[in-house]
Amino acid sequence: MQLTKDKVANINYTLKDKDSNVMDESTDGKFTYLHGAKNLIPALEDALEGKESGDKVNVVVAPENAYGPRDEQKIQRVPRKMFPVDQELAVGMPFSSATPDGTAVNVVITAIEETEVVIDGNHPLAGVELHFDIEVISVRDATKEELEHGHVHGPGGHQH
Ligand code: ZN
Repeated sequence: MQLTKDKVANINYTLKDKDSNVMDESTDGKFTYLHGAKNLIPALEDALEGKESGDKVNVVVAPENAYGPRDEQKIQRVPRKMFPVDQELAVGMPFSSATPDGTAVNVVITAIEETEVVIDGNHPLAGVELHFDIEVISVRDATKEELEHGHVHGPGGHQH
């Protein structure tokens, strides 16, 4: 069965950056997604279009077609005292903060100095050229319920 719109695909994938660092992977046969529902980045869906079980796909996606370029404006220095005094801070620690208009933003601490903390609101994969190695394990028709919800349901149906 070919992987086209409204099919559910079970795939294994490894995502590396251009220096072959593994950024993400799922190789235990458990990753499934609904094709054509924008559950994956469009460039990835395009590369998988028409593939069948057993097919292997290598695709390189430029940052502008994935999580966008890194935005230096999203890197900010904030006073250490903005964080609770008893809050242990560590580089790599994720935080949720809010912009003045109340929009939630996820940031990561990238540096801790005596009086200031550097936070980065870029997506971890922003500016990263994505190298995917993908193997299509199986393809099936989506159920009516999955199509209504726009995502895959696991064995036994609805789980949320
Ligand atoms: Zn659902």
